[in-house]
Amino acid sequence: MDNQNKRREKTHRHRRYFLSRNSIYIYIHYIYIYIHTHELTHIYDPHMSSFASSSVAARSVLVQNKVASSGKRNQSKRVSATTQISASMAHKQRKMDIAEAKKLLDKTKTFIFDCDGVIWKGDSLIDGVPETIDMLKSMGKQLFFITNNSTKSRAGYLKKFTSLGLNITAENIFSSSFAAAAYLESIKFDGKVYVVGETGIGEELDLLGIKWSGCEADKGKEVTLSEGLYMDHDKDVSAVIVGFDRHFNYHKIQQATLCIRENPGCLFIATNTDAVTHLTSAQEWAGNGSMVGCIKGSTQQEPIVVGKPSSFMLDYIAEKYSIPKDEICMVGDRLDTDILFGKDGGLSTLLVLSGVTTEDRLLSPKNDIVPDFYTNQLSDLLEAK
Ligand SMILES: [Mg+2]
Repeated sequence: MDNQNKRREKTHRHRRYFLSRNSIYIYIHYIYIYIHTHELTHIYDPHMSSFASSSVAARSVLVQNKVASSGKRNQSKRVSATTQISASMAHKQRKMDIAEAKKLLDKTKTFIFDCDGVIWKGDSLIDGVPETIDMLKSMGKQLFFITNNSTKSRAGYLKKFTSLGLNITAENIFSSSFAAAAYLESIKFDGKVYVVGETGIGEELDLLGIKWSGCEADKGKEVTLSEGLYMDHDKDVSAVIVGFDRHFNYHKIQQATLCIRENPGCLFIATNTDAVTHLTSAQEWAGNGSMVGCIKGSTQQEPIVVGKPSSFMLDYIAEKYSIPKDEICMVGDRLDTDILFGKDGGLSTLLVLSGVTTEDRLLSPKNDIVPDFYTNQLSDLLEAK
């Protein structure tokens, strides 16, 4: 074979080789496209049980598996993060020992106590409270008692303190019924109030000479709807106070709604927005948050809240008695009102387990509120004397 023929043969050999190689590539490429077009990749998925599944079902299962595994990963991350947060929060919760109680007594000049769950439970005094109050008084501490319960006035609470054998003056008691009246006084209110609530609010308004309507007078009123029914309302009302009301009814809802919506500049004041309250020892009952929520729903307005955890009562006490807030300790049984109220106000905080908060709830992953200390009950301070 001459040189020319050799070169020709070599060229053919290379061409056949490349054609053959490209064919293989093209063939593989077609197989790849086929597999992906027909969603057959599930054959590599351990979750798939059968090759015979339809492509749509396969895609669906694959997507579900992806979402599930992604969800599990995210859930795992969330659980992990929550566990870390809760572990961190639980770690920060400090049960008060005697040395810490002594330090707390040394640095605190004023104690603010929540009442229900700290001083009493229902109508029963909690063990050791009178002795603890006497001890604190003998140490020259200033004591205030504040409650979100608006059903009584300060005079009404004074009767309760006295009936339980506690020697307290009315000036040391702050209820949210008083706070609502004090708020109106602080803004030099000179209008008329419509009250949704019980007697405590009306009694406090009377003490300040503020005119009001509603309250017990609207107890039991029913609305009988008929074609063309029109409910009149008091055009002179320029503030509506909503407090806990065991006789809440549709008449009161409509009156409050009309005043807030139709009287120009009418204020909407909530004594508190507690979700639940402890009317009986058997269970938690719907609190004033339910009544306030109702009026919020019909007026689409946010109320001015004067009870805990709003700072109004704290600011009032600190200013009236010229008390530096870092010398005050808030003692309460509830995290989302008492302890939050204290922490937001820059006070020391002590949670007692004699009321609604159990140690499990305090240390729960769901809780992110950390009091400075917690202890079983108020009388634990007696050990630090
Ligand atoms: Mg309480």
